[in-house]
This record gives sequence, structure tokens and C-alpha cells, in this order.
Amino acid sequence: MSRTVYVNGDYLPEEDAKISIFDRSFLMADGVYEVTSVLGGKIIDFAGHLVRLERSLNELDMQKPEAFDDLLDIHRELVRLNDIDEGMIYLQVSRGSSGDRDFAYPSADVKPTLVLFTQSKPGLADSPAAKTGLKIISIEDQRWGRRDIKTVQLLYPSMGKMMAKAAGCDDAWMVEDGAVTEGTSNNAYIVKGNTIITRHLGNEILSGITRAAVLRFAKEAQMKVEERSFTIDEAKSADEAFITSASTFVLPVVELDGAAIGNGTPGPIAARLREIYLEESLKAGV
Ligand code: PMP
Repeated sequence: MSRTVYVNGDYLPEEDAKISIFDRSFLMADGVYEVTSVLGGKIIDFAGHLVRLERSLNELDMQKPEAFDDLLDIHRELVRLNDIDEGMIYLQVSRGSSGDRDFAYPSADVKPTLVLFTQSKPGLADSPAAKTGLKIISIEDQRWGRRDIKTVQLLYPSMGKMMAKAAGCDDAWMVEDGAVTEGTSNNAYIVKGNTIITRHLGNEILSGITRAAVLRFAKEAQMKVEERSFTIDEAKSADEAFITSASTFVLPVVELDGAAIGNGTPGPIAARLREIYLEESLKAGV
């Protein structure tokens, strides 16, 4: 069945939604995005995603779309129109189209393009991967240097996912200067005893909205959190490992470059954090 999507103020059937071939997200990857999950028809962590969107726009000197203050209503309307119970809402803002191709940013009268669409994923919260765990490979991090900005330049992460698939695995963790940065579309964690270790924030990784929530819940549950770099060797000798993202919540990692992590089954801390995250998110959803 055709979805109803949102383009620059209009709700349209997906086949009628159009943007210019000169749109800078198409020509230059000059766009930023957010993915927000929906559970029980409620939007999860909306406020955090909105703050990060505004930051991404500011970092790139991109105008806010006119409908910025209406984004929650637009999210809710798309959930309603598409009858989403569990799934995701994808939002993209691009610098728009000046009607030609040019490296220089267009003048301020060129308005940003705003597109949103839903992805229905029944069973999202009950993912089989939460029970089996993920197999991960490590790859070199060959992305650009401003990974803290959530841009639509996702070719290297796509290549990473294909490399993982070719190796019979689920995903890849990227490594730079000997340390893990993050997963292709998620933040990466290891657990030693009662301590959760995840890379500190900086330009090298995306400041995950799920990461912020999970670290807060971990501290509230008296777990220790260390925000610092770790190596693949350290990860291989960890008791547990896991990932977080808005669309996967918390998922355990059970294998890294062919080596079992811990006893090779999902660990209790990742399971507990997943449970708390889902419970609290459902309560706080808007
Ligand atoms: N890092 C990268 C590179 C990502 O693409 C994502 C997901 N968009 C994340 C981390 C996790 O961020 P969030 O929890 O906000 O989804």
C-alpha cells in the first residue's frame, strides 16, 4: 500500500512526491537527517532528535525549514495517516535547489527542502537479534572528519554493511588510529565487569540520542560508565559488547572478527539496558 509522505508542507501519496534534480542533497550530499522510532504509536526521544537536528543545521550554516516548530505535529500526523504502531520516521533537510549545480551555497532566498516518510516495522521492539546477538567485523574508518554532523553522506557506512554481509556477519565496527569509533549506523560499547565503556564524544562519532538515554539509565541503575576509546583487542576480551541506535535500541554483540565475546551469547547487562530503554521510552513517548 502506498504511504503518505511529507514534502515541503504537503502530505502526498509517495508516488506523487517530487523534489528537484538540482536539490543539493542529490548533487552534493548537502543534507542532514534524523531517524526517530515509533513504539505503540508514540514517538521516542523526539526532543533529543530535534536538538541534534538543529545542531547539524547550525554546524553546516543551513537554514531551518520554515516548518521547524511544527515538526512534532508533522511526525504525529504521518504516524496517524500511515497507521504506524511500530516503526520509524525518517526526516531529511537539504539546502534546497537553486535550479543549477554550483559548489557555492545558494543565496538565502533558496529555501531548504524538508522531506519526511514513515517505515512500518511491526515487531521492531521484539527483534530476534536481541536474543541471538550480532556478529560484527572490524573495518577501517574511512569516513570524513565531521561525523558529529548527521549528514546524508552514507556511502561508506553502506559499503561497511556490504563488507559485513559478504563476511557472513551483521554489521561492522569502524577503527581509526587503532581505536573503535562506532558502528556503521550505531554507537559501540563493551562491558568489563560492571563497567560500560564507549567512545567519548567528539568529531569522530555521532552523538547518539539512544546513547545519551542508555548511559543515563545505566548510571541510574548503578552501573559504571567510562567514556573513552577502546581497541578491537580490548573488545575481544570484554565480558559483553552491544550497540545502540534509535531503530535498534540496544542489541547485543556476540562475535567480533570471528572471536566469541564473553561466552558467545548475549550478555545480561545489554539485556537489562534494552529492557530499561524500552520500558522508559514507552512511558516517555509523545
Ligand atoms: N552512529 C552512527 C554513525 C549512526 O548512523 C547512528 C544512527 N543514526 C548512531 C550512531 C546512533 O544514533 P541514534 O541513537 O541517535 O540513532
